[in-house]
Amino acid sequence: MATQNAGPRLSFEVFPPNSQVGVDKLTGTLDELKGLDPSFISVTCSNHKLDYAKTTIDLAKYVHEKLDCPTMVHMPAAYVTKKEVSHILDQLELMHIDQILALRGDIVDGFTPETDFKYASDLTKFIKQQKPNFHVSGAAYPETHPDSKNRIDDIVHLKQKVDAGCDQLITQLFYDNDEFYRFQEECAISGINVPILAGIMPVVNRKQALHVVENCHATLPKKFIAILDKYKDNPVALKEAGIAYAVDQIVDLVTNDVDGIHLYTMNKSDTAKHIYNNTASLFNLESASPIVD
Ligand code: FAD
Repeated sequence: MATQNAGPRLSFEVFPPNSQVGVDKLTGTLDELKGLDPSFISVTCSNHKLDYAKTTIDLAKYVHEKLDCPTMVHMPAAYVTKKEVSHILDQLELMHIDQILALRGDIVDGFTPETDFKYASDLTKFIKQQKPNFHVSGAAYPETHPDSKNRIDDIVHLKQKVDAGCDQLITQLFYDNDEFYRFQEECAISGINVPILAGIMPVVNRKQALHVVENCHATLPKKFIAILDKYKDNPVALKEAGIAYAVDQIVDLVTNDVDGIHLYTMNKSDTAKHIYNNTASLFNLESASPIVD
């Protein structure tokens, strides 16, 4: 098994499926992702009060206990109270899971948020008070969070989040590395000096491509739009070109000394495997060798 040395780290993100079939499929995916020796696997969490955390904790438990893989739990807090968060933190501690991505979560139209955690920084501070040994990450937006008035405000708030106790940042997806480098510089100027992991989401199908084009606030470079246009009716070519684009982004980021790559896997191990096979040596893996299907 390859082990990661100091140097850029590779991590993966998965989400809890909403059906048993999905869960069964994801189990196989996770086994394969674990084989790629990530520095951690993170598990997203819906911020809707009704299904809060149960599916996320079950999945995180599987990753941590069955796969013996470092695990990060996403914790959006707009719709939960301090008491509920305390309970979840205690549960996680008992499972020896001590990595949290502290989030505010999106505010859902028609649902009034609770008042205990107005911003992710409030949650970060609370976690650090309750569990000082936990490792807390925060979300970051190279092209500015959509609720922010401007870039400066967003960076000022990000600095407050780091000062509240964030140990590292993980970014929203982006397709233009120059936007990331500009953000890195702004962080450095503002005194934000925790590691920043770059969030990369390869576009591998038409549905996802449309979602990115319609909903994502990221800058879409000409080269990227050309791929989506040219291969929109050719699923195999779209997937290959989408993966090649992500590999190109990763090679450039690692060459420029990024702290880590956080891959949004969309619960698909084959995409992660393709990317691993094309970039493993960049991540200082001791015995990086291609994984054969
Ligand atoms: P915050 O850091 O609180 O920022 C939200 C907004 O408030 C920003 O505009 C910020 O500038 C502003 N702000 C912050 N502090 C202040 C202040 N003191 N005064 C005024 N304004 C302020 N969502 C989920 O529901 N589940 C997930 O699992 C999930 N995973 C994610 C993983 C990553 C890597 C990323 C990047 C995002 C993820 N999200 C997830 C989405 C995230 O919850 C939303 O983007 C949400 O709208 C903002 O959450 P945040 O933690 O960044 O909020």
